[in-house]
Formats: sequence, structure tokens, C-alpha cells
Amino acid sequence: MNSKDLWIGILEQLSKELSWAELITWFKNTAVLDSQKGSLSVGLPFPLFLNWHMKKYAERTLAAAQLVDPSIRQIEYRVDTALCESDARVIDLLKHFPKKTEARKLPKKNQTKTRQGGIVSNIPNSKYTLDNFIVSPENRLAHAACQNVAKYPGENYNPLFIYGNVGLGKTHLLQGIANEMRRHNPDALAVYMTSEMFVNEVVNAIRSHDMTRFRDKYRKVDAFIIDDIQFMANKDRSQEEFFHTFNTLHDMGSQIVLSSDRPPQELSLLSQRLVSRFESGMIVDVRMPDYETRLAILQHKAQEAQVFINDDVLKLIAYNVDHSVRALEGALNQAIAQYELEHTAPTVKSVGKMLQRQKKEVAYIGPQALEPAGKGAISLEHLINSVTGYYAIERSDLVSDSRCREHTLPRQVIMYLASKKLRISLSKIGETMGRNHTTVIHSVNRIGQELKNNRQLLRDMNAITQEVGIY
Ligand code: ADP
Ligand code: MG
Repeated sequence: MNSKDLWIGILEQLSKELSWAELITWFKNTAVLDSQKGSLSVGLPFPLFLNWHMKKYAERTLAAAQLVDPSIRQIEYRVDTALCESDARVIDLLKHFPKKTEARKLPKKNQTKTRQGGIVSNIPNSKYTLDNFIVSPENRLAHAACQNVAKYPGENYNPLFIYGNVGLGKTHLLQGIANEMRRHNPDALAVYMTSEMFVNEVVNAIRSHDMTRFRDKYRKVDAFIIDDIQFMANKDRSQEEFFHTFNTLHDMGSQIVLSSDRPPQELSLLSQRLVSRFESGMIVDVRMPDYETRLAILQHKAQEAQVFINDDVLKLIAYNVDHSVRALEGALNQAIAQYELEHTAPTVKSVGKMLQRQKKEVAYIGPQALEPAGKGAISLEHLINSVTGYYAIERSDLVSDSRCREHTLPRQVIMYLASKKLRISLSKIGETMGRNHTTVIHSVNRIGQELKNNRQLLRDMNAITQEVGIY
């Protein structure tokens, strides 16, 4: 068998296990260079492929090769930058592996679905699922509530209200509910829309004097999911319509899910009766995930995108981008773009430069110091010792139930610094301080607020951070 036929045979075996995209991405312009004495030599077009193949495909490629030629016992990789489409050793991958139509599996975009007299549902983006949402202490409750709602719509948490800053996963969760509901029950009718879409529909209905049809349309759904409700501020007529839709659906036992950038009581431009309806169900927040979760998200997204990016690079991004998951993804996408456009692997240096362009300071610490509680890093113990020393209290006062400010303040200061500066996870902080994770969140927020106008606290904080060596 010649090298090309051998490679085609092997790839055919592999194609049973790999996705089409994976095959086309990672096996493009690869070739069998040689196969002698039981050793298969595989040529790769870029140095970047080497790591990825050794890590991800070596074993499977060897197993596939053995099915084609049982005498093959080992595999070795060689980078040969001459490998390209026009190289005679390379096979035409697309010809041998044309894209399969996956139409059956994927829901058609913007498909309309008719039930009970023509209800149009806006099919959410199928890439957002509850399964691919990475759970951390900061969003565990929100995620669990979404799962419950998707499984038992209208039964336990109705309405479900999720709030948090932009880019923290609200839309992901909301669309995840709709997707999950459909998975459980293909006939379920879950409508997802942003509040802006709702407002537009109200405007159109008014314009076309078709209010009755509009009212009927959304009053027959199993789940009504409205994203970014804050945009309904000041839109009185829409709020009015929404209030009635809400009540009808709620009375019928349909699930209602809402998201907003702030908690209901702060939605001052929404009518009070609407706000109090929101408050009648379950209210949960999403917050920025801790360092470990941010890293896990990056690893997961890199894997989804089927690119290999060095872990140190991912750590650098996870460490420095700490305000929004969307920004985290943005940084990763830029790193991926570098790889795709320039065919060079992103490095700590190149990604550091990129981050620097967006943000003035980038914390450049050696990879091991990037680990939050890692060796070089300042430990929680060290912080606790300094703070108890500074406030002249005993360590036992920290974990005690005492509620006098003498004790609660140092406790909260530790939690704040541990979370904000040392980036220790909330669960770890809670464990050490004998507090649950909600208390930790509360304490961190409290100190954050207080720092804005308590000068004494600010001075204390500066003294402590200087002593501990964190800035
Ligand atoms: P929001 O609606 O709160 O502004 P999004 O839901 O649009 O935020 O999230 C922004 C991006 O971050 C999306 O691509 C989303 O998939 C991703 N994301 C946010 N949180 C997570 C998470 N915990 N796990 C995985 N991806 C996340
Ligand atoms: Mg959103």
C-alpha cells in the first residue's frame, strides 16, 4: 500500500471518532512520510501541530493505523513545513471527507413553529446550553435554578429573576433554559426574546392596530424568557402589556424567566407593580467567576474551538481579565486569531502585549506564581496573620460568631483582600473563615462599598496591603 492510501485508510478510521471540523483542522496537509519496520512517520505542516497531535491524537492515530496495518507498532511525528495543498505527498482532505450535512441534528435558525393558532418562537442560539456553562461558587445558584426551571417549568421558581453585570453569562443561562426545555420535551414552547424585541413588537402591534393578536400570541407558551428587562425602563405602554402577559402566563402556570443588569428593587424606571411581581419568585445573581473558574472556562472554550493554546497563556488571560467572561472570551479569540492568521502559537509574551494594549497594567508573573495560592504567591495564612496583628485581635475572634464591629471588620477585610487581591476562591475563603459563601460575597461587597467613603478604612487597607506586600 502506498503512503497516501495508507493515510487515507487511517483517516477513515479516525473520522469515525473525530468531528469533521476536527479532522479538517488538524489533519489538513498532514501526510504519511514513511512507514518501515513497524514505525509510522507522520508529517505535520506546522510546529504548532506537534504538541496538539502528541497530546490529543497520537494514541488514536496509532490505534487507527493498526487497524489498517497490524504490523505498525509505533508512531513518530515530523514537522515538514513543505507540506501544503500542492505537495504531492498530501491528499485532498475535503475530497475524501466532504462535509456531512448535519441538518437533522441542528435546529434551523429562526425556524417558526406553529401550535395553537400560529405561535412564533424565537429559537435561541443552540451553542448556549446549561451543560456547557461552567459552574463556580459565584454562579452555582443561578445555574441550579435554571436547571430546575428547565426541568420543572412553572413549578418551583416562578418567576426566576437573574441579575448581574454585563458579560457574566445571563444570556447564556436564559438561552440554555430554552434549549434544555426543548431537549426534555421537543413540543415545549419556550419563547426567548430580549426586552427590546418585546418593545418593538408592542410598537408594531400598536401601529397595525393588532393588539388582540399580539396578546394572544405570547399567552400560550410554556416558558416566556425575557432578557435584559432593564431596557423596558420608561417604556410605559410596553410595561403595561408585559404586566398583563406576565399575569396571564403566571396564572396559567407557565414559567417566566427574566434577566437584568441589576436587582429588581433597583429597576427604578420600571413600574412598581411590575417590580413587585418580579420579587415574588426566585431572585439570583451571577458574579464574576474566580480565577480557577476563569481558567476552566478558557480551557473549555479553547477546546471547543479546537485550538491548542499553552496553559501558561490561558493562565495569563485568566489572571488579568477579571471583570467579564465576555472579555475573557474576547482575549482568547484574539489569541486564536493570532494562531490562525499568523500560524504562530500565541505565547505569554505576545498575549501579554495584546492585553497591555487594552489595559494599562498586566500582571506578568512567572507561570507558577500565576497559581493563586501557589508557592510564590502570598498565602491566605499570611494575610490572616497580618490583619489580626493590625487590628490586635485573636485568630479565634475571626471564626467566632461575635458580631461586634471590632471583630466583624477585620473578618470582612480579610475576605475582601483574599478575594480581590489574592484571588482566592470564595469557597476556599469561606472554608478558612468558617463562613458560607453567601456571607463571603456579602462581606466582599460590603467592604467594596465602604471603601468608597470611609477614609479610615481606606488608610487601614493601605497599611495592611503594604505590610502584606499586595497592591
Ligand atoms: P450577559 O448576558 O450576562 O451579558 P452572556 O451570557 O452574553 O453575558 O455571556 C458572555 C459570554 O461569556 C458568552 O459567550 C457566554 O457563553 C460566556 N460565559 C459567561 N459565563 C460563562 C460560564 N460560566 N461558562 C461558560 N461560558 C460563559
Ligand atoms: Mg446578555
